[in-house]
Amino acid sequence: MSSAGSHDPVHGLSFDIEDWFHVIGVPELEDSTTWADRESLVERRTDQILQICDDHGVKATFFVVGWIADRHPGLMRRIAEAGHEFGSHTHWHRLLFTLDRPTFREDLRRSIASIEDRTGLQVPGFRAPCFSLTPGCEWVGDELLDAGIRYDASLFPVPRENGGYPCPRAPHLFETPSGRRIPTLPMSVARIGPVVTGFSGGSYLRLLPIRLVESLFRRREKAGIPGVVYLHPRDFAPDCPRVPMGLRRRFNLHAGLASTERKLRRLLERFAFVPCSELVNRHFPVDEGNACSTS
Ligand SMILES: [Zn+2]
Repeated sequence: MSSAGSHDPVHGLSFDIEDWFHVIGVPELEDSTTWADRESLVERRTDQILQICDDHGVKATFFVVGWIADRHPGLMRRIAEAGHEFGSHTHWHRLLFTLDRPTFREDLRRSIASIEDRTGLQVPGFRAPCFSLTPGCEWVGDELLDAGIRYDASLFPVPRENGGYPCPRAPHLFETPSGRRIPTLPMSVARIGPVVTGFSGGSYLRLLPIRLVESLFRRREKAGIPGVVYLHPRDFAPDCPRVPMGLRRRFNLHAGLASTERKLRRLLERFAFVPCSELVNRHFPVDEGNACSTS
């Protein structure tokens, strides 16, 4: 159980709620009309995540794919009843830089409506699939504000497959083309040997030794910069179905799956975590840039 006072450093805890077949870049999984017939792990593994959060007394942000919200309304209610926060992870889980603006607008608003209809809760946050808010996609910030989104969590400060945006490593205000600003929580990166890399989520967290991850969280606390944990239901699933894919992709998706729960529990024991909007509110008190309104 975390027991941090109000002035202690806190980090963001988040989960991207999608199924294993929403992985991008695997040809066999690209046709969305096949998704409904595939074995699903999202309910069982998200319930596992909810149990872990409950055991440690922490609340998180669940960035949900709208397609999942439509098909798993009971799961949406369980997340809501547990007191967690919702964010949009788009409706169809497509890379932002492959979409034109009207297509993104429709996809985003559909996802928000799907989550709100199932939960009765507002959707204050957004995360792009694969952190695919890349240079050239700045208009996404205006679309988020126009749709009533209060903060973004899509920027990955160093290049990675399908994503990356050069930006400060601390929470900051993202300038949109229309001159407005939206608070953004960049993903956590650190120098490890010769490379600057992620360490706090997905395959990075599964593959790196937990002691190293802990030392990087401590380093951020000394620097006064919060870390952001992000994991998927499939990160907890050693029994994740296998389909043909390249070797590197297979390694990134399947290595370390049995270690995820243990590593997450250890981080939750040693560090204080809050939902992303709480982190945003600590860094950007209301009326300093995020005065967006749905009215
Ligand atoms: Zn995703």
